[in-house]
Amino acid sequence: MIDNRKCIGCHACTVACKSEHDVPIGVNRTWVKQVETGAFPDVRRSFHVMRCNHCADAPCTEICPTSALYTRDDGIVDFDNRRCIGCKGCMQACPYDALYIDPDNHTAAKCNFCSHRVDRGLQPACVVACPEQAIVAGDVMDPGSFISQLLATQPVQVRRPEKGTAPSLYYIDGDRAALEPLATDNQPRSVAVESKPDRHGCATSTADVRPLAGLGVAGFLGPEGAGAGKGIPRKVYDAPKNGTLWGWEVSAYLSTKAVAAGALLVPLLALLVGGVAVSRHALMLAGFASLLMQGATGALLVADLDRPDRFLYVLLRGNPRSWLVRGAWILSALGAVSSAWLASVCLEWGRAQTVLAWATLALCIPTAIYTAFLFAQAKGRDLWQSPLAPLHMLVHAAVAGGAISVLLEAARGIAGAEGHLPLARGLLLSGLLADLALAWAEVALPHSTAAASRAAELMHTGLLAKRFWVLFVAAAAIACACVGPLGLPVIAALLALLSLVARNDVWVRAPQMVPMS
Ligand code: SF4
Repeated sequence: MIDNRKCIGCHACTVACKSEHDVPIGVNRTWVKQVETGAFPDVRRSFHVMRCNHCADAPCTEICPTSALYTRDDGIVDFDNRRCIGCKGCMQACPYDALYIDPDNHTAAKCNFCSHRVDRGLQPACVVACPEQAIVAGDVMDPGSFISQLLATQPVQVRRPEKGTAPSLYYIDGDRAALEPLATDNQPRSVAVESKPDRHGCATSTADVRPLAGLGVAGFLGPEGAGAGKGIPRKVYDAPKNGTLWGWEVSAYLSTKAVAAGALLVPLLALLVGGVAVSRHALMLAGFASLLMQGATGALLVADLDRPDRFLYVLLRGNPRSWLVRGAWILSALGAVSSAWLASVCLEWGRAQTVLAWATLALCIPTAIYTAFLFAQAKGRDLWQSPLAPLHMLVHAAVAGGAISVLLEAARGIAGAEGHLPLARGLLLSGLLADLALAWAEVALPHSTAAASRAAELMHTGLLAKRFWVLFVAAAAIACACVGPLGLPVIAALLALLSLVARNDVWVRAPQMVPMS
């Protein structure tokens, strides 16, 4: 429990934690966020200690593919960095920005309630160091403990209760302006410290931590300060943010996975469901293209890990609740079954070919959509919680499958000869139109949370606007015209793939630009 009636913002807790756990420069397990409210000269600064909330229903433990994060019997959410593969899923799942990647060993870390001290009957280091006794640690299940008495007698607040994580960190006299990340003016006009994160999301040096231009030295905002006189609370001190955790590797992986699933989906649907004749040569080409993209998908997944040397832990030490692990199972199954099917086509195995074709087709659907459930486990990012996400992924598989079928046939130089091409073109056109409609819904329709609205707004404004309007919307619209009235399927296919890559890139980046603490 943090008693804000007592906190003086001295940062002793931050320093004690750094010392106790050898926390490197640029990252923090606990920090003191400072927020100013009011208008000059009637301003008030409040201090809020931020850290892991040791949630009773912790989303970080659920998404963690190797159970490196886990909840102990006493409720402490602890971690074992020997198991961590650096996937950063926990950082996307935690709605409180409580985790970071340790720049020394490239694994995730956070406040662990000084569990090594608790096990020896000691208090956490921050509790001992706080000169005001503003941090209270104890057993809330023991009615006789001091913390239980405080809980019984004082009104308390928790951060972002709507996330349903049941935080175990309580604030007495908590200020909504500090506890709610979007309640403050987050424009880069305040004195909030910023950092240029490296690829691990960490400040690269102390030189990167700087007060922003146009503001007073001591962090005091005069009448000209951001939001002054407008009654907008101002964030004036905060820890360096993690930046974009999942970058081009993850958005590219969404695209290669869509191609891997779609390349098989189109000819197999035509052959098995539509009863259309598809030549052995066309099936072999589709199979090889899919295997190539499956390999690229796996390589991108490994490339995104901060500990790629541990990638096999996902299969060997997998947490079955994590969609990262379930996804790895699905991709492995598709790899094995589609390879067997391709072998059966190449070697003309007859009946086995049909059985394996059905099994491959059945695996294309979960391959296409499982990522929607993975992103939904990233509870810190509201836009990814959309119930339309599985449809979004399925539509992308249709677009990618249509485009790749058209391109493969064009490469053979006998475009138009294969029976599955009308289906490919139909899926390409309808998929593009559906994707444009889904994007319109994301941008134009109201969202259930302010963070989701902010992310949707970021997709079509600011830094991402060019990618959204030119590389996605314009490319998809021209592709629709090319595959329809203009009759230029190859150009349509190339533009469709470009729009797919841009769409995934914007969709992956925008929610990560919304602050979580
Ligand atoms: Fe801590 Fe965040 Fe995990 Fe909750 S979700 S236990 S705040 S790291």
